[in-house]
Amino acid sequence: MKRALITGITGQDGFYLAEHLLGLGYEVHGLARQTGLEHIKSNLLQDVPPELYERCHLHAVSLDNFPGLYRLISSTPFDECYHLAASSFVGDRLADGYQTIQNNIASTHYLLAALSEFQPKCRLYFAGTSEMFGRPRHAPQTEDTPFMPRSAYGISKLAGYHIVRNYRESYGMFCGVGILYNHESPRRRPEFVTRKITMAAARISLEGRGTLELGNLEARRDWGYAPDYVRAMHAILNHHTAEDFVVASGVLHSVAELCEAAFSHVGLDWHDHVRTNPAFYRKEDEIPLQGCRAKIERETGWQPATSFDEMIRKMVDADLARLRTGR
Ligand code: GDP
Repeated sequence: MKRALITGITGQDGFYLAEHLLGLGYEVHGLARQTGLEHIKSNLLQDVPPELYERCHLHAVSLDNFPGLYRLISSTPFDECYHLAASSFVGDRLADGYQTIQNNIASTHYLLAALSEFQPKCRLYFAGTSEMFGRPRHAPQTEDTPFMPRSAYGISKLAGYHIVRNYRESYGMFCGVGILYNHESPRRRPEFVTRKITMAAARISLEGRGTLELGNLEARRDWGYAPDYVRAMHAILNHHTAEDFVVASGVLHSVAELCEAAFSHVGLDWHDHVRTNPAFYRKEDEIPLQGCRAKIERETGWQPATSFDEMIRKMVDADLARLRTGR
């Protein structure tokens, strides 16, 4: 039986990855902050079936707890480690991103140092992000597109990526990187536009009235489904060589299309309910973040299984179910 360690197991991706690896017969261990574990115990995490985490070995070790991390990694052998944990502040002002930059870089370095010391054969997956491309000069982006991050989060992830690449190149460790574009699910946090829209469509359909305020309706993103993307993480770590892979749907959709998919699913016309509010406007770049998934498809056979419309319908259905059961 293979044994895997997931950092950030209480997040959206950690949840789906744990489910996927358990289904493949793995023994799954997860790192989480003490508060994350308390949320699981007191059932505060929305929609989390506690049975999932009961089937995992959870360790209350935050990644800035270097001695705790060393203790775990020096005592339990792992075949695979999925490094998903990161602070994901995406603000406009770089100066506000101090903690994000410090934490994300230091935690990645701690983890790599501990693994290279005690478990150099353990395969490491690093959760890269399209935010590392930031403001790209062309679309779609591939593994060869120059990185140009423009947020504290993107900068911290890019620095983490270079730490990982150095352990791969200089120490011969198996470090696979997925450069993931936006990926959503019913477990996406409500501040992201997908969830904001699916929650509103569900609420308005049940209450029979209501409005939703959004920013730029023409903004476009390359949106995929999180459960599909965790399959890509596993494929990357089980490829014959450690490489970087763009993980994307390759297709752009606008916020207006998102509204159409969500509201039409509950029999409503979004034009009757959506207003724009300049407070939510963000400056959009002319060249969009759009990924090319040709490499991962060619080399691992990975493909997304869930379409954009299907994903939005699943998210609306989950929000309807939550509202109906009051959870
Ligand atoms: P991220 O910006 O890729 O991290 O993801 P978001 O879900 O926050 O935003 C996706 C896109 O939706 C961006 O281009 C936003 O400008 C656009 N958008 C339009 N209206 C809203 C809104 O009300 N809230 C958010 N979060 N994004 C919005």
